[in-house]
Amino acid sequence: MRLVLMGPPGAGKGTQAKRLAETFGLLHLSSGDIFRAERAAGSELGGKLAEYMDAGELVPDEIVVEVMARAMTRDGSQQGLLLDGFPRTVAQAEALDAELARADKPLDGVLVITADDDEIVGRITGRRSCPDCGRVYHIRFMPPTSDEQCDDCGTKLVQREDDVESVVRQRLENYKRQTEPVIRYYRERSEAPVKEVDGNPPPDAVTESLADVVREISSSGEAKA
Ligand code: ADP
Ligand code: ADP
Ligand code: ZN
Repeated sequence: MRLVLMGPPGAGKGTQAKRLAETFGLLHLSSGDIFRAERAAGSELGGKLAEYMDAGELVPDEIVVEVMARAMTRDGSQQGLLLDGFPRTVAQAEALDAELARADKPLDGVLVITADDDEIVGRITGRRSCPDCGRVYHIRFMPPTSDEQCDDCGTKLVQREDDVESVVRQRLENYKRQTEPVIRYYRERSEAPVKEVDGNPPPDAVTESLADVVREISSSGEAKA
């Protein structure tokens, strides 16, 4: 099964993708996580990515498509796939379609998590992440057991550079301008069904709704080997 998970910044894509990937045995590939790992490695590419990310701007399509194609062929040959945060522009969606068609592995579905703007701003400004293992928390909604430390590895949690209100507003605007058209693209052109799920309720409720949708997709006979 190959799925794309979309939604505005802070909608809960990363949180939900980890759970779905585990439940359904899918490989979770997050473009944001892959880019942050590249930055942490201190490569030249990482330096370039940082300029765009810290300003809340999308990374240029050429770079995104190349990095994601590499990640997909490196990690994703056998398992099912859950793409999180990619594609984010129509040009990226077209490139992904071409890539998957070449491999004869079309998408089975597109999941869209929705969330209200005010909810999003509250989620993102309260988000804290583990710089070591990448696990994500929220200071109020999903706090770590012990103050500001990762439950899994004990590392001190940090706030992402781009998780401040001014940058969040910029990212939301980009989402509306550049990424919402991707949903329309999939509705019009792709054979994969587009399913919207309300991301405003608490995390476990959202997981339930998403899991129902994934089961529906996989049992509808649409899921391709
Ligand atoms: P995205 O990957 O879409 O940017 P995240 O999964 O990182 O979103 O979630 C953004 C922030 O909101 C994180 O701090 C996360 O802990 C928190 N969060 C995620 N889902 C919910 C939810 N349903 N209710 C409240 N907070 C949530
Ligand atoms: P969020 O879900 O909170 O928006 P991500 O971790 O998915 O954050 O992405 C962080 C940043 O990485 C984005 O603001 C953007 O600069 C860059 N990025 C991630 N995925 C893409 C993509 N598919 N196309 C362009 N830029 C991207
Ligand atoms: Zn950790």
